[in-house]
Amino acid sequence: MLTDEEVARYRRELGITPEKVGDQSRRGRTHGLLSTYRNGCRCDPCRGANRDKERGRRRRNGSGRTHGIVSTYVAGCRCGECTEANREAKAAYRARTRRRAS
Ligand SMILES: [Zn+2]
Ligand SMILES: [Zn+2]
Repeated sequence: MLTDEEVARYRRELGITPEKVGDQSRRGRTHGLLSTYRNGCRCDPCRGANRDKERGRRRRNGSGRTHGIVSTYVAGCRCGECTEANREAKAAYRARTRRRAS
């Protein structure tokens, strides 16, 4: 029969540390994902995923285009950021014209 202390030591040696929730969840996660970063992980791959997302929002990505703006959407890009920018612009335009018309 192991004492609690021994159990804890074996767990630490095996890398199982339920006392440290942060460590345990870090092991079970898929890293390099924005969702993992948002869940609180700050490891390098996850921070990188967050950085890429921030960068992609306004700056050029590999294709040389600036995403998240209407002109890129109009030019034919249908990525999530450009589609969203177009949707927002459309909604703003509709709001303006509606106000003018009434
Ligand atoms: Zn991570
Ligand atoms: Zn785009």
